Amino acid sequence: MENKLNDQIQGFCALCWSRCGCISEIKDGILISVKPDPSHPTGSALCAKGKAAPEKIYNKDRILYPMKRSRPKGDKDPGWIRISWDEALDTIVTHLNTIAEESGAESVSFGITTPAGTSMNDGYAWVERFRRVFGSPNAAIAMELCGFSRDMVFPYTFGVPLPMPEHKNSDCIILWGHNPSTTWLAHAKRVADAKARGAKLVVIDPRRVGLAVKADSWLRIKPGTDGALALCLANILIQQKQFDMDFVRQWTNGPFLVREDNGRFLTTQDLYSDGSSREFVAWDLENNKHVVYDSQQGIYLANDINFSLSGRYTFNSHNGQLVCSPAFSLYADLCAEYSPKYVAQLTQLKESEIINLSEMIRNSKALSIYMWAGLEMHTNASQTNRAIAILYSLTGHFDNPGGNVILETTKTNDISGGNEISLTQKRKALGYLDRPLGPEQEGWINSDSLYNGILHSSPYPIRALINFGKNFLFSHADTGTGEEAFKSLEFMVHIDMFGNPTSSYADIFLPVCSPWEREGISTDFVVDQEASGLVQFRKSVLSPLGESRSDIWIVLELAKRLGFSEKFWGGNFEQGIQHFIEPSGIELKDLKENPRGINLNLSTRYRKYAESVHGLPRGFDTHTKKVEIYSELFLKHGYSPLPKYIEPMVSIGTPNISKKTYPLILTSGKSPHFLQSQNRGEESLRRMELDPLVELHPSTAELRGIQENDWICIETPHGKLRARAKFSDYLDPNVVSATHGWWQRCEALDRDELPVRGEISANLNSAIGCDFVDPLGGSVPHKSYVCEVLKLDSK
Ligand code: SF4
Repeated sequence: MENKLNDQIQGFCALCWSRCGCISEIKDGILISVKPDPSHPTGSALCAKGKAAPEKIYNKDRILYPMKRSRPKGDKDPGWIRISWDEALDTIVTHLNTIAEESGAESVSFGITTPAGTSMNDGYAWVERFRRVFGSPNAAIAMELCGFSRDMVFPYTFGVPLPMPEHKNSDCIILWGHNPSTTWLAHAKRVADAKARGAKLVVIDPRRVGLAVKADSWLRIKPGTDGALALCLANILIQQKQFDMDFVRQWTNGPFLVREDNGRFLTTQDLYSDGSSREFVAWDLENNKHVVYDSQQGIYLANDINFSLSGRYTFNSHNGQLVCSPAFSLYADLCAEYSPKYVAQLTQLKESEIINLSEMIRNSKALSIYMWAGLEMHTNASQTNRAIAILYSLTGHFDNPGGNVILETTKTNDISGGNEISLTQKRKALGYLDRPLGPEQEGWINSDSLYNGILHSSPYPIRALINFGKNFLFSHADTGTGEEAFKSLEFMVHIDMFGNPTSSYADIFLPVCSPWEREGISTDFVVDQEASGLVQFRKSVLSPLGESRSDIWIVLELAKRLGFSEKFWGGNFEQGIQHFIEPSGIELKDLKENPRGINLNLSTRYRKYAESVHGLPRGFDTHTKKVEIYSELFLKHGYSPLPKYIEPMVSIGTPNISKKTYPLILTSGKSPHFLQSQNRGEESLRRMELDPLVELHPSTAELRGIQENDWICIETPHGKLRARAKFSDYLDPNVVSATHGWWQRCEALDRDELPVRGEISANLNSAIGCDFVDPLGGSVPHKSYVCEVLKLDSK
């Protein structure tokens, strides 16, 4: 890399998923500032974390050389000794080869920090490729906590991950458990622009934060009860016949008849000896007879059908009489159990708020909706997200202007190596047998499974962890078990810019550089069609400090030493990038000449499900090629085929949880000042939030003699943590809200490192257990737990 000593360089901030367009200013070879690039589709503003990049890069706590430990695991001081890259990489390769030979590649797990909330976005796909080529089915990436519902549950209904709202055409926007002001600046900007243009904004969130302050309607929902609200809203729309009946009839599996005896769809195989299990049956009211749907072609074998969405129908089959009802009627029956009055009690909302929201949905001509982490970390997360997806299907706005639209994106090759691991190996993912529809189907295991594999060899031993930046002890529940597991782990590598309590258990530490010291590419900035068509190659603006290297460089070096060169373009990064962008028709050299990127100016197509492909409707990429209101797949795996609401399992009212001992609901949200468990060492950011805070209502505090800014103890059935009281008049008096990730020292502000557990720990995860998780996705209830808070005497 050859840069001028003084320069202004266009690129994008790669510290989080937002990837905001920015200009980096170099003076005398030093990065002195990072500023927004308003000419970039995501560059109208940068958050404080992006602007503080120089503080992160030049922080004196950064680790700049490979190291190995010299003291036993569990010692507070690992006794790090600087080693060469060759020694570090050779040691890793020796261990990987030995373990794979003796116990199979599955005994090596990977940890990868979230590409959404950290700078892992540049290297994520490369690490996944390495994991798969090596043959490990196990990567702990926290998918169960902050992506599963959006990326993997939504497809169970619509066949695609939750598409982006087309805000420029929306007249009503619902943000449900999603606070983009903290987590996705470029998205927040689009919502704010739409609001300024006149779109209505609804925010459903237990906390009045971010855009909730500007919303036309903010619904302060009780944490974990969102599924009940979705069913109730659907109930109102159905009762009032104010849903898109044509869409439901034509494009969902609502008309399919469901057998009363076993809950399966009625098929022609049930009716005729030469029938097929892929031909489903609906009822035509016009001709008063059944009609057949060929799911392979995605068409009904009749025309001008007036589908029945209610009633009971009896068929004579070779196994006797079968009584069936349309799937939609079963869904409507479920929804009917959720009256506004009942759901107002469950959700702690007002009946009028629920009815008003149903009216906004009904009256919207272009409704978009976005859900994220607020709906993920509950024991009922999967069915909650199903309930909202199905509610959205009733509106008919999917892939319509102003709705959630599948945008055109740049064509690329997959570099994450999806096909590089055999199905047999893939199926060995820890937890897959318990959750075959969960993240484990892609090898994305949860921390509980990892700890079990390490501590109990269950179902087989995990002997090594190659950990790309994940601070397990501060971002995953059940910290105590995590510490035990890492202490007993045979071999661990941690790859990061800074050391942290998790890395203190590593055998080898590899230093990575910041996004400003490495190159990166983005082919989709996601937030709208213009952003989705932009391909940008980000040049490094600084030479890597010390001997730090990029995650990708580390992957390529390990791949070469393990004999995987061929799968990694001979270890050549640029050839890998060229392979990645090859289908786009863009050349890497052209990208290098155009630092602001090349925009393919793609055009949006709407209602793609209705397009004709070889004379047949495209439909949806689901098992039935229809939007799946009723999921036979769920039924087959023992889950409810309809999104039944089940109360959060660690909450007030949960059996064995004493309401007297734990009278409050503990929820959590991200701090706007920090990315996950990072940044507390950066003075300008730490100054904005000196100590860990817990929000509570003044009346809750008064009852316990707590003053604002007092240190208080938050006690749960699983543990304790400490934080300072911050009052919020808007919070439900029964709810307190904490943040995770507090451990890092900030010398400039006289703040010491905080312990992982114990009386003065501020680690939220040490107080959350994994006894109850979402049965389908494995999500842990970080956002709906129980607690009591007590004033502490200490300063
Ligand atoms: S929102 Fe993320 S990408 Fe944008 S400036 Fe902040 S940290 Fe960087």
